[in-house]
Amino acid sequence: MRKYKKPLPADYTGRKPTQRPSSFWQETDLQNKEPTLLELLEALAQPGCPICFLAARSVSRHIEAYCRDSVTDVPVRDHLRAANGYCTRHAHQFLDMQDSLAAAITYADILKKMIGIIDRTPDKDARSPIVNAIRRIFRVRDSRARPLLPERQCPACEEQQVSERRYLTGLIAHLGESAVREVFISSQGLCLIHLPVAVDLADGEKLRTLVNVQRRAWSQLRGHMNEIVRKADYRFTSERITDEERDSLLDVIERMAGKREIR
Ligand SMILES: [Zn+2]
Ligand SMILES: [Zn+2]
Repeated sequence: MRKYKKPLPADYTGRKPTQRPSSFWQETDLQNKEPTLLELLEALAQPGCPICFLAARSVSRHIEAYCRDSVTDVPVRDHLRAANGYCTRHAHQFLDMQDSLAAAITYADILKKMIGIIDRTPDKDARSPIVNAIRRIFRVRDSRARPLLPERQCPACEEQQVSERRYLTGLIAHLGESAVREVFISSQGLCLIHLPVAVDLADGEKLRTLVNVQRRAWSQLRGHMNEIVRKADYRFTSERITDEERDSLLDVIERMAGKREIR
């Protein structure tokens, strides 16, 4: 059975101190730059797609901030109510915050709305058979269910889209700077969710850098996939799959489909 913690104290920040690579952070030149750039440098030092990393973190912080500061904020709750709560992925992420009070307040409110709607839903048989037949013939979309559907997008999904766009725009804007380009060149590039947007935003030398990094990263991954396939052949079964090749299986999924947290 899932255990819930007590509500968080009012002064709880919930944020871990940001771990920035010391070599970047200590450069005074970079300390004067915008937060997005510092975050990008931090993300580029992590394995995997930097945009997935930053988007997932933005969503986490968004949900944490909701638990900490916004549960009683009227416009924020209006949005959540209109969205019928978080989408499936983000609702489970919200639950993982283990803030029982925030979850109970939020969903009691949404349940009140849904009970009101269900109470106003007419009985199916109240509509005459002739009307039902006409609706079927003309394929009139049944509007009976519409009040039960969300009127707005999940706020965490909105936050994710905004942050993905912000970081992608920031990455391309700074890709011409040597500090960013050098780190990007030694990275594994972007996932297939974020690469198309980056390709659309970049041109000239920046586009060439994107393409070259991506080609090298994908070729390396493809090499690992080919090795796993080769070793499955009965002639080579004495050769074991290496740790690097095994890790590349998760890697290939994250690079083709994005991180689990973001899609
Ligand atoms: Zn990504
Ligand atoms: Zn969502």
